[in-house]
Amino acid sequence: MTENSHQLPSEPPPAYGAVEGGSFPQPGQLAPPPITEPPPRYEAPKDGPYAPQPPPQQFQPQPYPQQVYPTAPQPPGTTVIRITNPRFGANPTLIKCPHCQSDCLTTVSYTSGCLTWVTSAFLCFIGAWVFGGCLIPFCLPGLMDVEHKCSNCGRHVGTYNRV
Ligand SMILES: [Zn+2]
Repeated sequence: MTENSHQLPSEPPPAYGAVEGGSFPQPGQLAPPPITEPPPRYEAPKDGPYAPQPPPQQFQPQPYPQQVYPTAPQPPGTTVIRITNPRFGANPTLIKCPHCQSDCLTTVSYTSGCLTWVTSAFLCFIGAWVFGGCLIPFCLPGLMDVEHKCSNCGRHVGTYNRV
């Protein structure tokens, strides 16, 4: 009986799981603080040759809706204005007479106009009135207005003013 008592270990073998597990915090050693900071984000080097460049903003053309402008005819409300009396010049002009409704060339006649009087006044101002030079503009067709008359009926159809 005594042998058995000697052979038997005085103390029970320590539980390996309890000792090696280390589940119990040792005195004086604090448990690691919980990680509160987020992991550092990976920042690519700005100047690195292999820095991932942001994808270029490729302008993708929007599919424009093809607006087909119909070449519809003019609405019936529009009126076509026909210039029966063209702008008169210094030369005879082919017109359609508004009086006799005939197509003919106009006959021109020169009358004193604004430019004629202004030129005459200018000549008088510089002293040309002594020799009657102020009357010269009234003899120059290039300084006079042009009246257009119908060659068919002889009625006045328009005037070309120099100024
Ligand atoms: Zn006429």
